Amino acid sequence: MTKVAEGVFELLTPFPEFTLEQSRKMRVELEKNPRVTKGLPYVLPYMIKSGGDTVLIDCGWNTDAAYSALAEGMKAHDAAPEDVSRLLITHVHPDHYGMAGRLKQLSSCDVIIHEADAEVIKDRYLAPKGLTEGMSKFMEINGVPPMDAPGMSRGSMGMLDKVAAVPADEEVKGGETIRVGDFELDVIWTPGHSPGHICFYEPNRKILFSGDHILPTITPNVSINTQTHGSPLGDYIRSLAIVDALDVDYCYPAHEFGIPELKKRIKEIHTHHEERLEEMLRCVDRGGSNAWEVAGRVKWATGMLTDFEPWMQRAAVGETLAHLEFLFEEGKLSRVMRDRHQYWLPV
Ligand SMILES: [Zn+2]
Ligand SMILES: [Zn+2]
Repeated sequence: MTKVAEGVFELLTPFPEFTLEQSRKMRVELEKNPRVTKGLPYVLPYMIKSGGDTVLIDCGWNTDAAYSALAEGMKAHDAAPEDVSRLLITHVHPDHYGMAGRLKQLSSCDVIIHEADAEVIKDRYLAPKGLTEGMSKFMEINGVPPMDAPGMSRGSMGMLDKVAAVPADEEVKGGETIRVGDFELDVIWTPGHSPGHICFYEPNRKILFSGDHILPTITPNVSINTQTHGSPLGDYIRSLAIVDALDVDYCYPAHEFGIPELKKRIKEIHTHHEERLEEMLRCVDRGGSNAWEVAGRVKWATGMLTDFEPWMQRAAVGETLAHLEFLFEEGKLSRVMRDRHQYWLPV
């Protein structure tokens, strides 16, 4: 709703559990008094209007409430969803990408997504059956008790009705420049939170749209799951360095509120992961532990694993694995298969 720089407008769309009224109030409160909330209340899409062109960065869940919020926010700045020429997606999580199909139908906008996240769309949204089966096996290998495995796999299916998935019209790799009027948006590939996460950097205005890569008080979930490859935490930490090297006066994230001191925030995130890595290493038994056991010993910001709902347990196991994999790559852990379960051992 707010104009944050000439031609740049911060919009707000609520998460399904919140009304627009509630999420607007949270937007104001959180900036005054930052704190961890139970569930994210809103997404901040950004509208760029320049030279007669109207572009959106991210949108929101595909709910009527989120759509009305978006339309209302645009209207306050003499624009409408029908005007959108391009929809730039930082990553294909449902809160950022969910409404893409609805917007495309209204405006025939081009949807622009990084090629690695464009790949995720099919498995995650268009043909998700195989994913559920793969997930159960994945959970079993990592020591998740069998009783919990189906519940955990189902968690992600509940949100499919709130996503209008469309394939990308244009896939980017990073390194391109997207022109919107006199804005030049450099596409910066920042994998980690999602394999195809991208940020948009405007070098003339020294502003960065950081998506979920960098948020002012919370850290994005960096997980290993059936759709990731390699070391997402390694990717994430390398992506922090890429953004740290940019000359940024102000950073516009997709949740919470704006970040005036980006370098300071990046340093804090580094410290958080260093501490978490040390903690994870302490949680691995000398004789070996699986990811479920390690996740059960970690002190999470939101409590202990046993108190979590199944989907949160799944996220915690995925996040634990990302840290264990990173420690493995650093040579601090080894891993071994025992009776179809993966165990990690201190080196
Ligand atoms: Zn995300
Ligand atoms: Zn998000």
